[in-house]
Amino acid sequence: MKGPTTVLAIANQKGGVGKTTTAINLGAALAARGQRVLLIDLDPQANATSGLGLNKGQIERSVYEALIGQVALERAITGVNWDGLDLVPSAIRLAGAEIEMVGLMAREQRLRRVLEPVQGRYDLVLIDCAPSLGILTVNALTAAHGIIIPIQCEYLALEALGHLLNTIALIRDHLNPALEITGIVMTMFDARTNLSQQVVDEVRTHFPREIFQTIIPRSVRLSEAPSHGRPILSYDPSSRGAVAYRHLADELLARLGSRSPDA
Ligand code: ATP
Ligand code: MG
Repeated sequence: MKGPTTVLAIANQKGGVGKTTTAINLGAALAARGQRVLLIDLDPQANATSGLGLNKGQIERSVYEALIGQVALERAITGVNWDGLDLVPSAIRLAGAEIEMVGLMAREQRLRRVLEPVQGRYDLVLIDCAPSLGILTVNALTAAHGIIIPIQCEYLALEALGHLLNTIALIRDHLNPALEITGIVMTMFDARTNLSQQVVDEVRTHFPREIFQTIIPRSVRLSEAPSHGRPILSYDPSSRGAVAYRHLADELLARLGSRSPDA
């Protein structure tokens, strides 16, 4: 990809839908395609941080210090065990930022501001959001060009989406008019159940343009990889999960390429 950095928030306020799994593995797959990728862990749970092999209790410079202006974001960037992928780690103290940032000027725009100096150094910035629509996620959606929404293939999958779509509309009105829905990715698809297929069909009916063709299967290997601190492409490169995230990376790049004016 040529030109400026594309910033994508991976968000859904519903918990456990595959945001972090997608952030890590899509990030690694994009890097394997030659993209320079920065992953920002914007969740106080710091699952992307530990899933990439860092000890979340020993992070000295995290996204928290960057957001409150203690260090430049660049100084919180660390390499991980995967070529082309860098990480701004999180730490549990980020939980305090929800409250501390209330008193700061332009508190919704902190992330956008602190990201400015790294523009151009990366092709893509992926932001792994927490399961909330609080100030941290609002910062991600304000800094982003697009949002990727993972949806788990399960009963009532669409129920929580209304809140998220409302939030996106509010962010467009007040903070980030250009925010796009880059795509919806269906996760944890279980081919043995009719329910998974029904959920995919329902989402496809409502969001035919947004839904990615690539569907992420439910796979034990995907859930094991983070405990080894590695993306699936490293832990089990030929597994179904690895194949799916490579396809998703290709589909995303095609989508971004066809939308960007200088592609
Ligand atoms: P949270 O809202 O807490 O941040 P999340 O949306 O980031 O959660 P993940 O942490 O990616 O979700 O996934 C939730 C759990 O499901 C994790 O244990 C993860 O390993 C597992 N998981 C995610 N995707 C898959 C998959 N495709 N197959 C099997 N397990 C998966
Ligand atoms: Mg997560």
